[in-house]
Amino acid sequence: MAASEMVPFAKSGGLGDVLGALPPALSRLGHEVKVFIPHYASIDTAAFDFQPVDLDLQVEVAGKSMPMKVSQYLEPKSGMEVYLLGNANLFERPDLYVDPATGKDFVDNDERFIFFCRGGLELCRKIGFWPDVVHAHDWQAGLLPIYLKTLYSEDSYFAGVKSVLTIHNLAYQGTFPAKNFPKLNLPPELFYATSPFEFYGQLNLLKAAIVYADKITAVSERYAREIRSSSELGCGLEGVLTERKDDLVGILNGVDYTIWSPSRDKNIPFKYHRANLSGKKMNKVDLLNESSLPIRDKTPLIGVISRLVDQKGFDLVAEAAERILAMDIQMIVLGTGDEKYHSLFSELEQKYPDKIKAYLTFDDTLAHRIEAASDIFLMPSRFEPCGLNQMYSLKYGTVPLVREVGGLADTVVDFDPTTGEGTGFVFKEYTADALLSTLERAVATYSRRRVWTKIMKSAMLQDFSWRRSAERYADLYAGLIGSRG
Ligand code: ADP
Repeated sequence: MAASEMVPFAKSGGLGDVLGALPPALSRLGHEVKVFIPHYASIDTAAFDFQPVDLDLQVEVAGKSMPMKVSQYLEPKSGMEVYLLGNANLFERPDLYVDPATGKDFVDNDERFIFFCRGGLELCRKIGFWPDVVHAHDWQAGLLPIYLKTLYSEDSYFAGVKSVLTIHNLAYQGTFPAKNFPKLNLPPELFYATSPFEFYGQLNLLKAAIVYADKITAVSERYAREIRSSSELGCGLEGVLTERKDDLVGILNGVDYTIWSPSRDKNIPFKYHRANLSGKKMNKVDLLNESSLPIRDKTPLIGVISRLVDQKGFDLVAEAAERILAMDIQMIVLGTGDEKYHSLFSELEQKYPDKIKAYLTFDDTLAHRIEAASDIFLMPSRFEPCGLNQMYSLKYGTVPLVREVGGLADTVVDFDPTTGEGTGFVFKEYTADALLSTLERAVATYSRRRVWTKIMKSAMLQDFSWRRSAERYADLYAGLIGSRG
C-alpha cells in the first residue's frame, strides 16, 4: 500500500484518514500489509518508535542517483508495518505538497513522487518482500502501477505482481510540463499526443496510472459513476475512465470508529452516546464559551470543518452568507485554504461576532470538538468523492446538511417529514437558493425537539465501519491474484 498521507503520521485530508484505517483493517482480516509513505520532516519518528533500517539504497530520478533513508514501524495491534521512505532534499519541508513561500505546489513534486514510487519498488526488492498486489493511492503513488507495466515489466522480481489504483479525488492529477517526462526514466517514445501520459500537451501521471493499473477504485459508488459520466466531475479523464469501466469499481470509505465516536473520543470534554445525549449539550456550551459566542438554547449551531476550497461549495456559502446569518443560527468554522475564503469568514466574524466564529487553522482536536458540539454539519460540496466529515457527523448526532453528490449522496438520507425517516438534509441544485431553503427546512425542524432527536438517533445508528469496505478491497485483490493463475 503506497500513499502520500497516513494518519497519525501525516494528513492534509481524507486520504490520510483512509490510510490510517484501511491497512490495519486488512491486517486484521489476515493479510500481510506493508504501507509506504514519504518521510516528511513533520513525522515524529521517536513518538511512534520508528526504527531506522540499514539499507544501502539509491533511487534514480531525473538522471540523478538519490539516496533513500528508510525507517520502519510495526503496529503492535494489527501487525501492519509502516515504512517511511526518506530523502532530506525532497521531503524535509514545511508542508506535504505546497510551498508556503509561493502558495503553489512545490515545483519538483514530480521528482519527489518519482523518487517515492521507484524507491518503493526498489525497497520491496531490497527487503525481499514480494507483494501479491501493489495498491497505490492517488497520483502521488500512481507511478507504481505505471512502472510495473513499463520500466519493471521485464524484471523477473516483479513478475505477476498486480496493481490497484484508488482515486480519492480526480481533481488532483499530477500534471507537469511535457518536458519533464524524461525525469521518469522511461523510453521517450512512450510520450506522444494521445499516449497514456499525455493530456492536453502536458504530462499527466493520474491519467497514465488509470491506463496501466490492473484495477481502479473510486471512493464511493456514486463517484465511480459520476467520473465516467460527466466532464465536470471526470475532470477531462471521463473518456479514459470509460475505457476502463469494466475494471473500475466504487468502494465507499469507512470510518475509524475507535477515533470518531462520541462515546470513546479522547478529544472531547464530555462523552455521550445514543441513549444519553446530555454530554452533547455540554460540549456545545463548552465550545460556545471558548469561542466567545453567547449560549442560546434554542439556536442551532452549524459546524463546518473543511479545506476552504471551491470543491467544498464555499462559493455558495459566500453567496448565501448574509441570508444564512440573518437566520436564527450560530456557526463555527474550522478550515484552511484559499485566501478568499479566509477573508470571507474573517469579515463575517467581525460583522456578526455573536453568531459566527472562524478558526482558520488545521487543528485535529478542535475538529473533534466541533463534531461533538454542533447541531448541524454543513457540507454543500460541488463534488465530493466520498467525504468523511458527513459520516463522522452522523455518528456524533450532528445532522448533516449536504448536497446530493458523490459520497454525500451515498451516505446521507434526506429527512422526509411525512414518514419521519431520514438522517440529514439534502439538496440537489448547486445554487445558493437551494442551500438556503434546505437550511431553512433544517432550522425549522430543529425547533421540533422530538422530531430532531429522532433524526439524531437515526443518524447515530448508521454504520460505516471499515470492515465491510476492507472486505471489498480484499475481494478485489483475491480476484486479481486468481486472474494470475
Ligand atoms: P477531503 O479529503 O476532500 O479534504 P474529507 O471529508 O474526505 O475531505 O476528509 C477531510 C478530513 O480532514 C476530515 O478528517 C476532516 O476532519 C479533516 N480536516 C479538514 N480540514 C481540517 C482542519 N482545518 N482541521 C482539522 N481537520 C481538518
